[in-house]
Amino acid sequence: MALLATVAVGVSSCAGGADQPEWAVTTTTTAGTPETGGQAQPSTTRAPSSTTTTTAPRSRRTDLTAPRPAAPVVLPTEPGLAPVVSRVPTTDRVIFLTIDDGIWRLPGVAEKLDELGIPFTSFLTQPYAREDVDYWRRTQELGGTIQGHTTNHPDLRKTNPNRTALEVCSTRQPFEELFGQEQTLFRPPYGAVTPTVRQAAAGCGFRAVVLWKGTLNNGVLALQDGQLKPGDIILMHYRPQAFEDIQAVALAALAQGFKFGLLEDYLVGPDRS
Ligand SMILES: [Zn+2]
Repeated sequence: MALLATVAVGVSSCAGGADQPEWAVTTTTTAGTPETGGQAQPSTTRAPSSTTTTTAPRSRRTDLTAPRPAAPVVLPTEPGLAPVVSRVPTTDRVIFLTIDDGIWRLPGVAEKLDELGIPFTSFLTQPYAREDVDYWRRTQELGGTIQGHTTNHPDLRKTNPNRTALEVCSTRQPFEELFGQEQTLFRPPYGAVTPTVRQAAAGCGFRAVVLWKGTLNNGVLALQDGQLKPGDIILMHYRPQAFEDIQAVALAALAQGFKFGLLEDYLVGPDRS
């Protein structure tokens, strides 16, 4: 708890949304304390641009790591179609951080997440994965997992069925070979889910198509339902503002009494490699 409880949040100097005023917060939040502030919609949490965190040993998974589930959840299934999930059906006060694409590979992102004890799933497009395999393997060492997000990042609402299937399935074998991790989850670019996408995902062995309930941009967390709910999947990107985004979601989790789980633990089960 010391990590974020001691954060003196300074005035952010990052390029936030133009309509978002700069403001400062000093937090002494502790996990389990419900948020008591007025509930604006969408709920936003401003991230700091600099922090004065205490130093934690890298090997220590700190307060924000949720315990593994006793058993994986069962998603509703339809024959031949991969289920679509944006909120994992659970009552655990757990949320899931997902990070997409991979174009900006800032040093220290995985280290920061590890320091905070936040596991995370990277949904990578194949070119960015191949450009910097060592970077991604480092994320795996620090609590990250890697799943598929197509090769060319097309809008799968606009591709023909053959192209759709090729794109959906294109990362499975390469990523298993590059990263030694079973490929079980697929995220479509732009959240574009169609029956063809679900059919293709099921056909090449993905267990779920993963969307989201909250997004992080420029250090601001925007939630579809105004506040965190158990099982929420949060989307951010590998961008220059990654650290601000991480701070925002970490602070929101602390303020609302949530910890972070790993999607693969919930959607696949504890026996994942
Ligand atoms: Zn993307």
